[in-house]
Amino acid sequence: MTADPVAIARELVRCRSVTPEEGGALAYLQGVLIEAGFAVHRMTFAEPGTAPIENLYARIGTEKPNLVFAGHTDVVPPGDEAAWRHPPFGSEIAGGRLYGRGAVDMKGGIACFVAAAADYLAANGGKPKRGSISLLITGDEESVAVNGTVKLLQWAAERGESFDHCILGEPSNVQTLGDTIKAGRRGSLNGTLIVTGRQGHVAYPDRADNPIRGLVTLIAALQAPLDDGSAQFAPSNLEFTSIDVGNPTVNLIPGEARARFNIRYNDHHSQTALKMLLERRAHAAAAGRVHYAFDWQPSNADVFVTKPGPFTDLASAAIAEVTGRKPKLSTTGGTSDARFIKDYCPVLEFGLVGQTMHSVDECTPVADLVTLTAVYRRIIEKYFG
Ligand SMILES: [Zn+2]
Repeated sequence: MTADPVAIARELVRCRSVTPEEGGALAYLQGVLIEAGFAVHRMTFAEPGTAPIENLYARIGTEKPNLVFAGHTDVVPPGDEAAWRHPPFGSEIAGGRLYGRGAVDMKGGIACFVAAAADYLAANGGKPKRGSISLLITGDEESVAVNGTVKLLQWAAERGESFDHCILGEPSNVQTLGDTIKAGRRGSLNGTLIVTGRQGHVAYPDRADNPIRGLVTLIAALQAPLDDGSAQFAPSNLEFTSIDVGNPTVNLIPGEARARFNIRYNDHHSQTALKMLLERRAHAAAAGRVHYAFDWQPSNADVFVTKPGPFTDLASAAIAEVTGRKPKLSTTGGTSDARFIKDYCPVLEFGLVGQTMHSVDECTPVADLVTLTAVYRRIIEKYFG
């Protein structure tokens, strides 16, 4: 039973584990993992101002290398449940697809890895041939990601756990299972540009200083290209998302104008260097005439990249053997918990096909669950030789 990915995925999808709720998902996983021979730890992490979150760490074996699978059982809210043709926590199978919130992102991926590991262990007398297999499962990925993987990794490090390679089971594939491995993610940084002037009557602009003129000048300067891309990344991009003056009056020059922006940046930059670059550009464009300041939001989404090498080769080969496709190494898309794991060991992301993630009637072909399990099984086999 523990080696059936479809049965495990269906049980997980039935759990209402919308962040920060555990919803029974980790409790269920704990049972399955114990049955497969893992030692399982459950811990709750908390911090003032955030909801406490349950997490799970499981390991079988004590030796190196330790191959770790990472994932999250929390899901985004279903939205209007009446809009779903198949109820979001009903876990229905129809037309060869498993429907439900988290089927793709990423309870399905977790189910496949657990089934693959259980099958591998059963074929080897109940333990790994050598080394260890671990799982880092959090309930805090879809929200602020404060009481999840970051603290789970710290907790594990304090216990003396070390990881050699990590597979994060996020839905990495674009169209078909086997088309894409994510081997890096861009960083993300949010900021606000604030220009101050002097309020006044619109008919007497000489007595005022309109901050909108200065803001437009600085926006133009900041939108210049940041780089030409790198070996594994597209060019970095700064995108203004809002320009705010909040002026309800037609005859008033406002005293302040603001613009918010987000930057998705590649491995040419660090957050610090990027901030300095933009401060320099603003300084030059302002030419001493525009009064401005940047307000940077704290960001825990730094860029990361896993360089092509033996680990990505091993995963690519396993994927090709099972699916007949040669996966592309990609760094597109939003951030993921890989940004935290990369500080501990090389990490790549491979999971289901992401098309329906976070949408109404999220679903995965049942056949993909079977195939992904076979891929993970092959990776484990190759990894431990
Ligand atoms: Zn996810």
